[in-house]
Amino acid sequence: MAIVQTVEAASGGRRMRVASPATEVPIGDLPVSTAEEVRAAVARARAAQPAWEALGFDGRARHLEQALKVFFRRKEDYMAVIMRETGRSRFETIMMEVFPACDSLSWYPKNAKKILSDRKVSMHLLRTKKLLLAYRPLGVIGIITPWNGPFILSLNPTVQALMAGNTVVLKPSEVTPFSGRLVGDLFREAGLPQDVITVVEGDGETGAALVDAGVDKISFTGSVRTGRKVGEACGRNLVPCTLELGGKDPMIVCADADIERAAGGAVFGAFMNAGQFCCSTERVYVAEEVADEFTRRVVDKTKALKLGKEGDFDIGPMIWPRQLETIERHVADALAKGARVLTGGRRATEVGNLFYEPTVLVDVRHDMAIMSEETFGPILPIVRVRDEQEALRLANDTTYGLAANVWTRDEAKGVRLAKQICAGSVCVNESAIAYGAIEAPFGGRRSSGVGQVNGETGLRGYCFAQPIITDRFRQKEEHVWYPYTADKARTLERVIGWLWGTRLGRWVA
Ligand code: NAD
Repeated sequence: MAIVQTVEAASGGRRMRVASPATEVPIGDLPVSTAEEVRAAVARARAAQPAWEALGFDGRARHLEQALKVFFRRKEDYMAVIMRETGRSRFETIMMEVFPACDSLSWYPKNAKKILSDRKVSMHLLRTKKLLLAYRPLGVIGIITPWNGPFILSLNPTVQALMAGNTVVLKPSEVTPFSGRLVGDLFREAGLPQDVITVVEGDGETGAALVDAGVDKISFTGSVRTGRKVGEACGRNLVPCTLELGGKDPMIVCADADIERAAGGAVFGAFMNAGQFCCSTERVYVAEEVADEFTRRVVDKTKALKLGKEGDFDIGPMIWPRQLETIERHVADALAKGARVLTGGRRATEVGNLFYEPTVLVDVRHDMAIMSEETFGPILPIVRVRDEQEALRLANDTTYGLAANVWTRDEAKGVRLAKQICAGSVCVNESAIAYGAIEAPFGGRRSSGVGQVNGETGLRGYCFAQPIITDRFRQKEEHVWYPYTADKARTLERVIGWLWGTRLGRWVA
């Protein structure tokens, strides 16, 4: 069974066929853009960029504010597309897609001007000069996105790149192409000028074509494996990129934690979006004093979760079959090496072919795939630890470093522990919410990524900070210009001697 299939069309070219992961009912099919079409889209985006930039922050903000209005008006239609393609519940779609989409479409237009306006910087030495930092758009941004947040993960970087004055060519995931193309529909309906944002459709081939199509930056979100390929291609092309990749996020539960809250946070953190969330909790380290109570509460809460495909339910399907294969491989490997299932551990075929029961595992070790590779499914492995030092050692024993969470009643200790975890972001007494906190720069350490997105950092990342240096006074010439003379050398040496050889000079420098 394939939820998405790429097929040769009778008329030539390739088409993607998509079916609902919940019901397996066909949704539709779309043509795959060829490399030539991708290059043409980038060329058109380049031609459209100067006029888009010339609109200024206020002009661009007006367009994006209009997009927010359209999104509001059309959100039921958009949600229907996203729910059909992902099988998610209505609540999860509102929480993961609608809420952050509204926030993104409102915050960046409101704040981009303040963050990206030319900035005067006073210089500590070159006092006869003035420095202006101009945040210049890079040009055309290629955005490549995954299927697990198919609308928001495509919309959010697009909004940031557009507000910074760039034009965009977006390549959403082939697993959820109908949700990805909504981004193009939204901006078209909002009346953005033609070619300011173009959606190209397709799979890895189309993504690779976009990386090679002469864009000025790639903003990639996806797996470590593909991220490496994209990073290599960007290196070859000397194109900057941000790589937002996978994770194996740890949760540390201290002996003094509020156990009821921690258990609730673990279940939400592990099973939200059926575990198909880059920052989902994939490993728990709990102090042995509270391990029994914590585990009992986690199991009780997990058993209460409702799988489903319509009405009110908590857990939807895996969005595509490959994810189910990874989950089953990880669970089988863990069981073969001595892990125990406390609840779950099997497909929920009575609900649908792509459903997997939320699963709690104990007696797990780091030599199991479930503890070392990203699972991206509804599996929560729990490890008992002697103390916080052991928890930290195990939390950091990974090649990933996306997010983490720490649970304790002592906030200062939580912050202290957070600083010792090698992760892009850490929450204390909360499951990973950093992606949703616009002001928080978001990114991964180690193999979880390169660079950061969102907020000020994200907006500036879509620009080149161009220093423009001007004269404070009109002078005929500068001391260091030709001719070089012994006299000038002595003067310069005297300046150096005063600046870094005297106490007052060092204070000034
Ligand atoms: P993926 O790497 O398979 O695909 C991501 C995108 O890359 C898709 O659009 C795909 O078509 C495209 N692609 C594939 N090969 C390519 C190539 N050679 N060149 C250019 N593009 C190519 O990832 P996925 O399975 O769609 O998404 C799941 C992964 O994404 C998980 O690892 C998850 O943790 C990660 N993710 C990370 C974040 C984050 O912000 N760090 C957010 C969401 C998901």
